[in-house]
Amino acid sequence: MLAEAGWETLLLDRARFPRDKPCGEFLTPGAASILQSLGVWGRLTEQGISPVDRLSIRSANRFRLEHAPEENLTAGWTVRRRTLDAILLEQARSVGVEVREAVVFRSLIRESGQVRGVLAAGKCASLCEWRSRLVIGADGARSKVAREMGVVKPIRRLQRLAVVTHWRGLELDCGLEMRSSGSVVCGAGRLPDHSVNLTLVVPTGESRKIAGRAGDYVTEMIYRHFPDLAARLPDGQREPEIQTTHCFGHYCRRTSDDGVMLAGDAAAFVDPFTGEGVFFALRGAELAARTAYQALTSGDVSAVSLASYDRARRELMRRYLLCGLVQGIVRTPTLFNLVVRRLNRHPALQDRLFQVLSDTEPPGRVLHPGYLLRLLLPI
Ligand SMILES: Cc1cc2nc3c(=O)[nH]c(=O)nc-3n(C[C@H](O)[C@H](O)[C@H](O)COP(=O)(O)OP(=O)(O)OC[C@H]3O[C@@H](n4cnc5c(N)ncnc54)[C@H](O)[C@@H]3O)c2cc1C
Repeated sequence: MLAEAGWETLLLDRARFPRDKPCGEFLTPGAASILQSLGVWGRLTEQGISPVDRLSIRSANRFRLEHAPEENLTAGWTVRRRTLDAILLEQARSVGVEVREAVVFRSLIRESGQVRGVLAAGKCASLCEWRSRLVIGADGARSKVAREMGVVKPIRRLQRLAVVTHWRGLELDCGLEMRSSGSVVCGAGRLPDHSVNLTLVVPTGESRKIAGRAGDYVTEMIYRHFPDLAARLPDGQREPEIQTTHCFGHYCRRTSDDGVMLAGDAAAFVDPFTGEGVFFALRGAELAARTAYQALTSGDVSAVSLASYDRARRELMRRYLLCGLVQGIVRTPTLFNLVVRRLNRHPALQDRLFQVLSDTEPPGRVLHPGYLLRLLLPI
């Protein structure tokens, strides 16, 4: 966005693309509409993106909330992250961003308290110095830029582990099925190439059971916690490549400072249960680009000037709050059963909730006493 607006922009990433990224690979309609405005939708449809017809959320006692949007609308999309991220990078290059892959950020360059660029390790043996008027840390949930800024606040209950697998021949009832059983969460989504992304999120205490046997661990956990899905596993074949990652739930006390900003997971990361991290990253990037553009144009990239970004991000804070609320409800079977009964009986309440979870309506549409009372009280 900044390059398109005419700013000389350098993008450093430690990865070489295309690469996989641990993810459920589901996109909300809100994320899709930002991708459309970025001009990458055509390439995504050519290279593989599928609409999700229906999605379901199931609790441990198999109570189920199913959502199918009205005709001509979709509940979301699935896409391999390898495809999505490579297309985004290609688009960045095409609008003039200078991209350097396999370059690892090491530290911020600070002069008189102001960030003036970064030190990073690339091909050369010594650290390279890149000077800039503004640095945007978009280096993911374990952001080193955020840690250098000293603003990271881990969220203790959101320290979890994820194991991401892909399966062939596995049948699903819906395009996306989310299941929860105690502290174990499982997401299964049908991908454009007809494979299934099956992601398990478990407490960090499980790490020793996963080490060296992640595939067997996933199968065991599905048999133990999700018998309806386990019944279908024998028909499927797991692809050999498995990704594991630490889900580092956190927020940042501030997402900007003198000459530096944070975007995407670097700024905040919550449990990925309702699948909207990509929307948060894209929407956050829009807000960051808007503030950055104004600050760069006025020649003032001080903390005071960039603070409007923190204020703008409040719209996302309400959405993070809703994620937490949904996850809390799904993990409490009696409450989940009550909510499912109410939503099934009142389609208007259900539609409104899913419009917000789709990122097509603002969170305020459900985070207000009127909606919550109608949802919880037997009127
Ligand atoms: C298990 C799991 C399932 C998820 N499922 C979904 C889902 O279904 N839908 C959804 O919308 N979201 C989901 N998310 C969240 C989503 O993946 C993230 O929110 C999204 O990828 C954030 O994008 P980002 O650009 O901020 O970070 P990332 O996509 O993590 O990108 C960060 C980039 O920074 C680079 N980098 C990191 N450190 C350095 C360094 N030191 N130097 C240089 N480069 C560096 C990395 O190589 C990477 O390319 C899930 C997350 C997890 C963990």
